[in-house]
Amino acid sequence: MRLILLGAPGAGKGTVAKMLTAIDGSVQISTGDILRGAVRDGTDLGKEAKGYMNSGALVPDELILNIMGERLLEDDCKSGFLLDGFPRTIPQADALGEMLTKLGITLDGAVNLDVPRDVILDRLTTRRTCSNSECQAIYNVKSMPSKVDGVCDKCGSPTIQRDDETEEAITKRLETFNEQTAPLVGYYEGKGNLINVNATSSDAVVEAIQSAIK
Ligand code: ADP
Ligand code: ZN
Repeated sequence: MRLILLGAPGAGKGTVAKMLTAIDGSVQISTGDILRGAVRDGTDLGKEAKGYMNSGALVPDELILNIMGERLLEDDCKSGFLLDGFPRTIPQADALGEMLTKLGITLDGAVNLDVPRDVILDRLTTRRTCSNSECQAIYNVKSMPSKVDGVCDKCGSPTIQRDDETEEAITKRLETFNEQTAPLVGYYEGKGNLINVNATSSDAVVEAIQSAIK
């Protein structure tokens, strides 16, 4: 599969991407995970991105395009990819289109995960993420708790609340999404590429995507 996953923070892009990778060996490419890894490792990229991320703003397009220009050339992309968190602005979408044309790749579609705002808010405040950068499993204290509170089922590392999951940063991230990313729905609809999915359970979302691209 070669898909873009669009949706507000908390819409379930990461969870759905992980489920889809298990189906056909496509690789999940999460710009958020890449950036958080860079912040944790204290690289130049991480130092530059950190302030934007913690406030809930987007990092500059140029940084992201450098990352993605290289990432899409890696070998594991040959079996398909699920773009989770990219593109997030119209200029990023234009640049992605050019990259894919150069690589001779066509997308199966851009999936819009359309989730009601109250569900999103509830999910974001109750989300926990495994602190181990190799694992990054996602939990939810209400709907999908780890077996032992605060400990990852898969690797035993502590599960944490992300720095951008304070109420203030969440509000800002949703605003950023509405202003800069939501217009991509119309953008891909105009290209005839949009797959709109209303379901809220991740199982139903995965089914809807599979039947849409069959
Ligand atoms: P979510 O979708 O839950 O908000 P992500 O993990 O996708 O979170 O991204 C976390 C943060 O990383 C974003 O708030 C933003 O600062 C930055 N980021 C991730 N992807 C991009 C992108 N494509 N363009 C600009 N900033 C990005
Ligand atoms: Zn873990």
